[in-house]
Amino acid sequence: MASRPPHTPWLDHLRHDRRGLPVPYINAWGPQTVENTTVEHCPYATQDAVFMADDFDAGPDFTKQSPQRQRRCMVLGLCQVCAKPVPWSRRNLVVSGDSVDFVSEQGHRMALVHEPWLCDRCAHIAVTWCPALIRRTREEHLEVIPVRSAREVLMRVSHGWIAGPLEAQTRARPVAMYVKAQLLRLQLEPATGWTVIEGRR
Ligand SMILES: [Zn+2]
Repeated sequence: MASRPPHTPWLDHLRHDRRGLPVPYINAWGPQTVENTTVEHCPYATQDAVFMADDFDAGPDFTKQSPQRQRRCMVLGLCQVCAKPVPWSRRNLVVSGDSVDFVSEQGHRMALVHEPWLCDRCAHIAVTWCPALIRRTREEHLEVIPVRSAREVLMRVSHGWIAGPLEAQTRARPVAMYVKAQLLRLQLEPATGWTVIEGRR
């Protein structure tokens, strides 16, 4: 970013980095190492899940998400930046190369998004002056897509295993990683950025 973004009281309650910039609620703090990783019960995924301890002294990692805060945001409907509850009338999802997987169901290719909700206000802040708020890599092309009804998405829990001392245990019994939103009524095409090519309503 060439210039410093204007001060935004909307984000004053967040932790700030050493430059004094607000750090999105969902961001990881410190390295996501084996030593910082545990398996605990997650009330939002309602099963055993991966947790990464925060190291606030080490500073934020803007390229990574805290898995426990990712799940909390998705399930409770919190904005990933400001952490405030977002009513359906103001919910958005961010779609980018890094944030979408695809699944095929009943002949339809459906997008699975793992970046949680953005409120209208944080989406506006990110789009107008600070894409770094929601961008994981510098080159990432982003689209903000309104999702205004629970009928437009299906929440799905992804599972995986963890390298290191927890490998044998989690390979035998994979644990929850993220809660993803499957888009039920929008079909996305990554060819030229992320374009909604068909709305099925
Ligand atoms: Zn927000």
